[in-house]
Amino acid sequence: MLGLSFNILRVAGIPIKVHWTFGFFFLWIAYIGNKAGMTNTGIIRLCLFALVLFVCVVLHELGHALTARKYGVKTKDIIISPIGGVARLLQMPEKPKQELIIAIAGPAVNFLIALVLGIGLTLFTNQGLLPIGDPQRVFDYGPNFLPTLFVLNTVLIIFNLIPAFPMDGGRIFRALLSMRWGKKIATRWASMLGQIIAISFFVLGIYRGDYILSLIGVFVFLSAAAEYRMVLADFLLQNQKVADVLRSDFTAVFIDEPMSHAIDLRNRGIEKDFVVVDEWGQIQGVLHDEFIAEAEKNKDLESLVREYLSPSFEPISQSWRLDEVLQLFQQKGYSIIPVYNTDRMVGVVDRDTLNSYIRANTSIWQNWSFK
Ligand code: ZN
Repeated sequence: MLGLSFNILRVAGIPIKVHWTFGFFFLWIAYIGNKAGMTNTGIIRLCLFALVLFVCVVLHELGHALTARKYGVKTKDIIISPIGGVARLLQMPEKPKQELIIAIAGPAVNFLIALVLGIGLTLFTNQGLLPIGDPQRVFDYGPNFLPTLFVLNTVLIIFNLIPAFPMDGGRIFRALLSMRWGKKIATRWASMLGQIIAISFFVLGIYRGDYILSLIGVFVFLSAAAEYRMVLADFLLQNQKVADVLRSDFTAVFIDEPMSHAIDLRNRGIEKDFVVVDEWGQIQGVLHDEFIAEAEKNKDLESLVREYLSPSFEPISQSWRLDEVLQLFQQKGYSIIPVYNTDRMVGVVDRDTLNSYIRANTSIWQNWSFK
């Protein structure tokens, strides 16, 4: 859903971008208006209305972004697309109370807009709060503009307060639960409730032939699962140690062996990356999967391992936390790291093992498994 977006303006240093599909959106609503038999003036009002509504969406996102800034959280950008807006915060505050206030700030903006419109309409017009006439051609009648804006801001508030990720309601619900039960359990329950709501959307959508609602259901279901997996992965990495993914059963290759041996070992399929030792058993470097693949591709079987090895490696100990190890993998581009206990090598950690460990412990079914 991302892809190309255009910068349109900056507010308080935050770039506001519009997704390219937005252009088609106006053509589409003009087409819908025309099909419903609206007058040309009505269609122009409809497009203008869509524009004003999206300004309301931008203000909603700015509500999140500017509140986040108060807690020192920066916003990368705000992206507006036909399905809504999103403020991409660079991180989430750890304190549940801060997350709560940031999440509430968005719908609070729409509440303010609706409040001002509601008071204005009641005091200064005799139009009432609701649009009148044929709902299919609501903008043929000019005075319907503000009441419709009032109604849609109210819809935005209600929609955003549905307690399911990625809606604000999901975050509000999670933050409230976090205060008592901690983030992990809170995310689990919030994500479960989100998935139950998503399934209801899906079933209701099928039942009523409203496939957009079903599609929203699928999207919400996956978002809720993704949110829980992310939190689970964070917890796993912060709490588990190298000892949990240590591979003590590993094959070392000798520095003066031909590459053909390393290729054989790799093709047996269990290990892909190797530590390289000399005749005294001292580590001289590591042999990454990609290097072996390259030797195999070039049919370079005769060259010695010493010509392919990477001499840079960093030994770690068993007491390292997994998030520290992951960072080392990512920053240095390692694929295998030797693990030492004082001055004895006890095993290796490799990227594949770590990744499958994370995958296995954060599966999409985790949400529903009771342990
Ligand atoms: Zn929001």
